[in-house]
Amino acid sequence: MNLKQEEIEIADYEKVVKFTDADSGLTAIIAVHNTDLGPGLGGTRIYPYKKFEDALTDVLRLSKGMTYKAGMAQVGLGGAKSVIIADPKTEKTPELLHAFGEAVNTFHGTYICAEDVGCTPEDIEIILQKTKYACGVHNLRGSGNPSAYTAWGTFLGIKSALMHLENHTSLEGKTFAIQGVGSVGRRLIELLFWEGAQLIISDIDDAAVARCAHQYAAKVAAPDEILYVDCDILAPCALGGVFNEETIPNLRCKAIAGAANNQLLNESDADLLSKRGILYAPDFVINAGGLINVMHELSPDGYQAPRAREMTKKIYQQLIDIFEIAKQKKISTHQAAVSIVDHRLEHGIGKRSEELFFRFAPIEPSHALTS
Ligand code: NAD
Repeated sequence: MNLKQEEIEIADYEKVVKFTDADSGLTAIIAVHNTDLGPGLGGTRIYPYKKFEDALTDVLRLSKGMTYKAGMAQVGLGGAKSVIIADPKTEKTPELLHAFGEAVNTFHGTYICAEDVGCTPEDIEIILQKTKYACGVHNLRGSGNPSAYTAWGTFLGIKSALMHLENHTSLEGKTFAIQGVGSVGRRLIELLFWEGAQLIISDIDDAAVARCAHQYAAKVAAPDEILYVDCDILAPCALGGVFNEETIPNLRCKAIAGAANNQLLNESDADLLSKRGILYAPDFVINAGGLINVMHELSPDGYQAPRAREMTKKIYQQLIDIFEIAKQKKISTHQAAVSIVDHRLEHGIGKRSEELFFRFAPIEPSHALTS
């Protein structure tokens, strides 16, 4: 291993470092946005970015989003994220993940990595062979797949939106459009199905969308149509940047409440949604369930699912409050949520008071998968 690092100066970010290792082929960026309330915990996205600048833009946006997600959820954590520029299907090797683990070590615990798009809990087990600063594993003391918590938090957020708009939380007969039937999307679809919702779903993976449509009696929309179908609630569960000057004028939903990160292309797009009278559940509030679940793995007394569940439940009331503040102050819901977290960051409200406990390192090689 021949790990090289190069710090990239970015205003308002605590530390951004590019790592390369010629032996394993690693090119990665770790971005720590803010650790005022605790160490920065954020997933490692493994993606074949076409240009280094694209990867940098993504990691900066995602790490800042984590600061706001953690600050809102009051988990005593900061905001950070990492990206590895590689195709997870063909270029992910144990050597690459080991080199990345060494890169994580250089942050001495101000950055803790976890799974994300392209990075599985099995990959985290391999990273844990080189660093203790990683979490989100499947073993009997781990927190498992975060998607169930993310989907459930999103489901509760949908109920908050209905309560705000219609003063009830019944999903019976309401129409939902869900973009993306991946790990979170399909779990959300199942929760909606059991409550009698009408479903319109879409994915670029034809087989996955056909399976879901059959199982949950959903209609299918083409990927370029799903944002524009007539529905009560639109739930983006695939990509970032879906709401922008081009898409917003053509939306036909009453509210947006979905799990995708960085849904707004620009912060000003929140105002465009407000002007159109579309209620927006800020992404970093509604999709915090996964973060809440994974951080419980680092509790000194061990992961306990009921605690993660009870904390995730708070998303419902947080959104009710945010919707009300936005209405009273005549500001966007995004701005209302950002202001709450900015106030907490300024005054250290929710700052971590007890040490995190890193119980899984070094993991025995036999516990980890080799592919
Ligand atoms: P995933 O990769 O399992 O699923 C994403 C799905 O979106 C895939 O099925 C993919 O084919 C589909 N997709 C991609 N482009 C599409 C398009 N143009 N139209 C329709 N479908 C498209 O990811 P996931 O874990 O389900 O996460 C979904 C979103 O939620 C991501 O934005 C992720 O960052 C965010 N998120 C996930 C979690 C979590 O716990 N997994 C937590 C917080 C936020």
